Amino acid sequence: MKEEILSKYPDLKDVSDLKEVIWLNPKILPYEEAAQRINMNIAAIDDAEKRLEKFAPLIEKVFPETRPSHGIIESPLKVISKMKDKIEDTYGFYSPGRFLLKMDSHLAIAGSIKARGGIYEVLKHAESLALEAGLLKEDNDYSIMAEPKFRDFFSKYKIQVGSTGNLGLSIGITSAALGFNVIVHMSADAKQWKKDLLRAKGATVIEYESDYSIAVEEGRKASDRDPMSYFVDDENSMNLFMGYSVAAKRLKRQLDDLNIIVDEDHPMLVYLPCGVGGAPGGITYGLKSVYKDNVHCFFVEPTHAPCMLIGMATGLHNEISVQDLGIDGKTHADGLAVGRPSKLVGKMMDYVLGGVITVDDYKLYDYMRFLHETENIDIEPSACAAFEGFVKLENTIEGKKYIKRHNLENNMKNAVHIAWATGGSLVPEEINKQFLATYLR
Ligand SMILES: *Cc1c(COP(=O)(O)O)cnc(C)c1O
Repeated sequence: MKEEILSKYPDLKDVSDLKEVIWLNPKILPYEEAAQRINMNIAAIDDAEKRLEKFAPLIEKVFPETRPSHGIIESPLKVISKMKDKIEDTYGFYSPGRFLLKMDSHLAIAGSIKARGGIYEVLKHAESLALEAGLLKEDNDYSIMAEPKFRDFFSKYKIQVGSTGNLGLSIGITSAALGFNVIVHMSADAKQWKKDLLRAKGATVIEYESDYSIAVEEGRKASDRDPMSYFVDDENSMNLFMGYSVAAKRLKRQLDDLNIIVDEDHPMLVYLPCGVGGAPGGITYGLKSVYKDNVHCFFVEPTHAPCMLIGMATGLHNEISVQDLGIDGKTHADGLAVGRPSKLVGKMMDYVLGGVITVDDYKLYDYMRFLHETENIDIEPSACAAFEGFVKLENTIEGKKYIKRHNLENNMKNAVHIAWATGGSLVPEEINKQFLATYLR
């Protein structure tokens, strides 16, 4: 299998040797052309945003921590100049642009990027059930869904999901809070504290010795057997995807508030940690719809789990796994420990994604320490993959090639780089300390 793939795609040799790479997407097209090919659906993004606004009064009621933002779950965007200096000193380069951290690590309720897609999907499902049963009308104040009669109603239904951890937290916490029975199928990579937290919130956790794909498959089977059960399908869910996409319009407002311009002369480069692809894919989709050719998105994956890279580079998408290339899929980045990419996402990314970058595990802990020391911000190892995107783009020959190819050379001094911190605020203090003291090299 491996030899066959490598003879057909010799460029993947370094990837199969577990080397760090930057793969530039050869299929990327100018936005207007790309949008036609992938049927860019802006109405669907708007619809998701409106639905979240409609749900805000319910969210505010069920999750009091969202009171300050009136039930809108959004994360801070922060300039991290000291972190930028530290990275540049360490790797010996200088980037004239600005460097920002999008702190989905600190999103309310789930403490990760999964608060976007996961919560959206559970709410949308609850809405459909309640509308269908005649309990809810479209023009109701949705906060009535916190009433006991709704909880009783939802308690007859089940929601199931397969997860490496964070999606389980997001779906589990939201579903349980509304009154659903929720079962989370956790892969071997999932951390113990995530399972403990979920159980404490009232979710049922089923543990597997195997990887993420098996946990998803088993979850899907269990759900399909039960007519009262709904399966949140991380590999194929359009609802999850659209929930993530809403981030883009909100980011635009945040950038406007900071007086940061993104236009033809001021490019934006965004680095997103990638597991199965849904979260970074949905956000990229949204960002492209807003900023078109002025935004450049890159996914970052662990060298031991580069599933989106091989799926896109071969065009085989979910029909190829990292194991097919002799890669074990084992990484300290638990949120990114995925061996096979989403069927839906790779195809949506074919003409819009800048490329995929891979990173060694040991660097994730180094970046964690840098951020802790320079900015006093703690994020989880998976989220730290984002920083490698910045380094690889500014400090490698391939990165420079991308800059040249897209005529960005003269504008890099005006560039805004965004590292998307995908998770971390729910990590228990003790475990965070252990992370900060972990050296793999
Ligand atoms: C889930 C997750 C990602 C990636 O999202 P996918 O949809 O799996 O690609 C990145 N970082 C963290 C911390 C995550 O939990």
